[in-house]
Amino acid sequence: MPQYDYDLFVIGAGSGGVRAARLAAKAGAKVAVAEQVQVGGTCVLRGCVPKKLLVYASEYSQAFRDAKGFGWTVDWARFDWPTLREAVQAEVNRLSGLYIKNLNAAGVGIIEDRAVLVDAHTLRLERQGKLVTAERILIATGGHTYRPVDTPGQELGITSTDAFLLNALPSSIVIAGGGYIALEFATIFSGLGVDTTVVYRGERVLRGFDHDIRAHVQAELQRTGVNIICGSVIDEVAPLPDGRKLITLSNSMRLEADQLMWAVGREPNTRGLGLEAAGVRLTERGAVVVDAHSRTSVPSIWAVGDVTDRINLTPVAIREAVAFAETEFMRRPMAFDHADVASAVFCRPPVGVVGLTEEQAREKCKVRIFRTSFRPMKNIIAGNEQKTLMKLVVNAESDRMLGVHIAGPEAPELVQMAAIAVKAGLTKAQWDATCAVHPTAAEELVLMGEPIAHDPEGPA
Ligand code: NDP
Repeated sequence: MPQYDYDLFVIGAGSGGVRAARLAAKAGAKVAVAEQVQVGGTCVLRGCVPKKLLVYASEYSQAFRDAKGFGWTVDWARFDWPTLREAVQAEVNRLSGLYIKNLNAAGVGIIEDRAVLVDAHTLRLERQGKLVTAERILIATGGHTYRPVDTPGQELGITSTDAFLLNALPSSIVIAGGGYIALEFATIFSGLGVDTTVVYRGERVLRGFDHDIRAHVQAELQRTGVNIICGSVIDEVAPLPDGRKLITLSNSMRLEADQLMWAVGREPNTRGLGLEAAGVRLTERGAVVVDAHSRTSVPSIWAVGDVTDRINLTPVAIREAVAFAETEFMRRPMAFDHADVASAVFCRPPVGVVGLTEEQAREKCKVRIFRTSFRPMKNIIAGNEQKTLMKLVVNAESDRMLGVHIAGPEAPELVQMAAIAVKAGLTKAQWDATCAVHPTAAEELVLMGEPIAHDPEGPA
């Protein structure tokens, strides 16, 4: 039996890596985790957590406007970016500290270094110039923001990673992309008073989401002042003498803005990790290829989270990590089921979805579609025109709920509950047997009596 320095060596102390390391160590394994930047990973340091805090901050502008209808006078409201930036950084550093504390408490060794694979059981710690061995290795290195390297002047733009640390809030920004990050930051910047333009290459933002949600979100963002230019990409960026940027689009439009942000996707962090040397197979996009148990093409190496490019969400990385630790260190073989994973986009209005879109469901079976759109009670007195959209996709034969799609206040909170019912395979009749909670927006989810007739605007 070969002797190794560690039972498990984890590369990357983000959500997935930290969870796997802690569980394996608690099960009695000798574990180390290597982190080259800061313990916490994308979610805690430059993703979900700081993003959501900025979203909260951005919501106050509408809340102040709404408050007037309820009798408040709030004409003193002023916003200070450095105060918010510092508060957010303090919070992410606090969370990073908690991660470290939890790793220490579990007995995991934290190595502040870049670890690179040498072979199936050996790693080189680059800063220390030292080799270590491990019986099992887990790659949990996450991903990074992608930049269109061939676009002239692209380096003049920032990415979401930089956005959290801006010295000053720009007065205008152009955001490239129409996905999660683009719309969340469009919501943040416009809510904070920045003149915001989104440039998206497709016809309608949020590709992959249900068509009704896409239309609703795009219309609502536009109604609240976000300029959305579809069917176009950024061809060139050039500096202007006053420090702003001249942005030329493929439709020949020219935009001038203080700031440009690339939100055109993320890529797995696999470059220079020695994966090829160790024999780990990668996809064309550079993601680690894994099986249902997160095992790579090398029997002693596993990978979880965004580096595998399955469903790139924090809770998914954590579940993959749990399944790995349960299987390998607790003798309870299990695989995470990637079906019916709910997700949220924290845009304006926020979106919460689970299960199949109408388009996806129609490819599998006959469907009944239920849809409602209404102004939430609070918005009426507030004089706020924002509407909520709710949509249910039901299998017409089995009556099973296949998908729930919500865009409106608290949609991410609502969809967590709906996800339980979808995952459990409940029928529409069972939803309808559930008594409403009144007065709420959520009650509409159990009160949608009649399916809509065929929608000529919808998919065939
Ligand atoms: P997305 O894949 O969501 O969006 C990328 C956007 O960029 C799409 O609109 C895409 O267009 C566009 N795009 C891609 N390449 C180009 C290009 N070369 N030129 C112009 N446009 C381009 O990625 P994000 O970076 O927004 O987010 C990455 C992932 O992180 C998400 O998919 C999600 O899994 C996760 N995430 C989750 C969040 C949450 O849970 N709330 C928040 C943020 C991120 P097209 O649609 O045509 O492909």
